[in-house]
Parts: sequence; C-alpha cells; structure tokens
Amino acid sequence: MAIKFCPKCGSMMVPVKQEDGIGWKCRKCEHIQAVVNKKEVVIKEKIKEIVEIPVFDADKTRDELSTIEIDCSKCGGKKAIWWIQQTRSGDEPATRFYKCIKCNHTWREYA
Ligand SMILES: [Zn+2]
Ligand SMILES: [Zn+2]
Repeated sequence: MAIKFCPKCGSMMVPVKQEDGIGWKCRKCEHIQAVVNKKEVVIKEKIKEIVEIPVFDADKTRDELSTIEIDCSKCGGKKAIWWIQQTRSGDEPATRFYKCIKCNHTWREYA
C-alpha cells in the first residue's frame, strides 16, 4: 500500500476503514483525510470473478473425458480417450469419438 504524509504536520499517515471506503489518519495530529475508493474495490472483485470461471470449466471438461481400452489402428496402442459429440443437425444420433493417448490419432465410431 502507498504511503501518505499528513498535509498539516508532515507525519506518516495510516489507512483507516471508513463507512464509504478507506481513509488516512495522521498518527501525530489525528488529522483524517477521506479517500473514497469503493469503485476500485468493485473492479477488483469483478476481475477475480472472471479469472475463476475458466478454471472451473477446464476442470469440468477434464472430468468428463473418460478413457477406454480399445485398439488404435495406427500405432497399436490399447488405450484411448472417448467422448460423445452431437452432430450439427441434431436429429442424427450422437457420435462417439476416440483419441489414442499414445499417438493422438482420432477416429469416430461407425455404427
Ligand atoms: Zn498530522
Ligand atoms: Zn495410436
């Protein structure tokens, strides 16, 4: 936090909590300088909110991906990640996709 000096006696001031924000109080002559910084506090809270949301979404996506024991046609690997993706039209059944964890080869399941 920034250091403020008293305009009256030049002594160092300490931050004090006030009803409408943070103020500064002189330690020597008790002179109080009001600083309304409520706006700054609100902006900081908003930034925190924005940062936290993508972290939550990333965790959710990772949890939704499951692995399955399946033969990869490209490298002969035995394990792949699978997920279900709805086709663009919506009236077709959802397609299951596989991604080999060894070589990243991705293929879809043909019904
Ligand atoms: Zn003072
Ligand atoms: Zn593979």
